Amino acid sequence: MKLVEPSLKSLSTSMFNVEHIRADFPILKLKIDGKPLAYLDNAASSQMPQPVIDRMVRYQTTQHANINRAVHYLSETATLEYEKSRHKLKRFINANEDREVIFTSGTTDAINLVAHGYGRKFIGSGDEIILTTLEHHSNIVPWQMLAEENGAKICVVPIDDTGELLIDEYKQLFNKRTKFVGVTHVSNALGTINPIKQMIEFAHARDVPVLVDGAQAAPHMKIDVQDLDCDFYTFSGHKLCGPTGIGILYGKAALLERMQPFKGGGDMIASVTFEKTTYNTIPHKFEAGTPPIAAAIGFGAAVDYLSAVNMSTIATYEHDLITYATEQIRRIPGIRIIGAAAEKVAVLSFSVDRIHPHDIGTLLNQEGIAVRTGHHCAQPVMRHFKVPATTRASFAFYNSMIEVDALISGIQKIQKIFL
Ligand SMILES: *Cc1c(COP(=O)(O)O)cnc(C)c1O
Repeated sequence: MKLVEPSLKSLSTSMFNVEHIRADFPILKLKIDGKPLAYLDNAASSQMPQPVIDRMVRYQTTQHANINRAVHYLSETATLEYEKSRHKLKRFINANEDREVIFTSGTTDAINLVAHGYGRKFIGSGDEIILTTLEHHSNIVPWQMLAEENGAKICVVPIDDTGELLIDEYKQLFNKRTKFVGVTHVSNALGTINPIKQMIEFAHARDVPVLVDGAQAAPHMKIDVQDLDCDFYTFSGHKLCGPTGIGILYGKAALLERMQPFKGGGDMIASVTFEKTTYNTIPHKFEAGTPPIAAAIGFGAAVDYLSAVNMSTIATYEHDLITYATEQIRRIPGIRIIGAAAEKVAVLSFSVDRIHPHDIGTLLNQEGIAVRTGHHCAQPVMRHFKVPATTRASFAFYNSMIEVDALISGIQKIQKIFL
């Protein structure tokens, strides 16, 4: 594999060296107001390593043309590279076949595709869709739009005060009208890892298909869609060290084949007359128009990069980071950590007594520290904890313990200002 630095390949078997990793990410060398950048907003979007940037430049400078439509060299090359990228994503999540991987513009687009392509066809008036309190707005609003249109009903799994789903209540929501479950693998606001395998098994025993929103899980752990047995799984490239404008929807082939297309246009058809159009086979049925080819190829390079670092090495290292960060922040008086699930990824949501999250974010920025403040597109979560907003530090495998220390001393400095 040319794309990946040879030294990275051995990482999984040697000690994880964060400085070595950081050297791959040009943006991490930035200074903000003379202070070294500590980028702790990875749950919103992650940064891109040089091999991914290089891959996209190589595509754009030597391989670009439109795909699927011509016999000339560049078009054939672009088509081949685009399909190779699909295969890389298939391998990354252990899907059964390449055609089960549909390129979308991201997680939001993928969920809308399922709400339209599956929902409109198979969910009707009076039918019930189960969602959870932990969902990102992306996995709420498309289902509400469907429900408003066709009279379906949304049922919501509640959470407890640690930010874990109440699984007994989930089970009690099922009845004869239950037609669909949408659940996030990991909460973007709190970091909670949901017991999705168990939830999928329960739904399948009642013939109910399950969509898993993996936007916050795929960057942090090994995903195996066959082991999970989920019907749909989706995530975005830009949260996985890849570019914006690209994501995937994984779907079981048999389900995808029964679904109707979401968008109409070029490439998704087999034949068109003004009387009748017949659709192309999957995955093309769901990829109308010219896709973001460069982004798809960059996405393939990103999962190559992550696989070379090794997803379980990433999970282990990030676990150490969040354990350390949690221990350190607990020592600061006046801090309330929001979300203390037993299983969580490296997300630290908190509030500080008497100081508004917005002020925390602004003042941390002056220290070069990038965190997110707000409702994190998860207002139902905020409502449960009775806070309008939190400050959220979200970590990636390229973050260091030094950056955790910078966050902690940044918070202490702000507290002194507000004394
Ligand atoms: C970011 C995020 C989304 C939306 O992803 P886009 O890339 O903005 O489409 C959906 N769900 C979760 C859990 C997220 O974190």
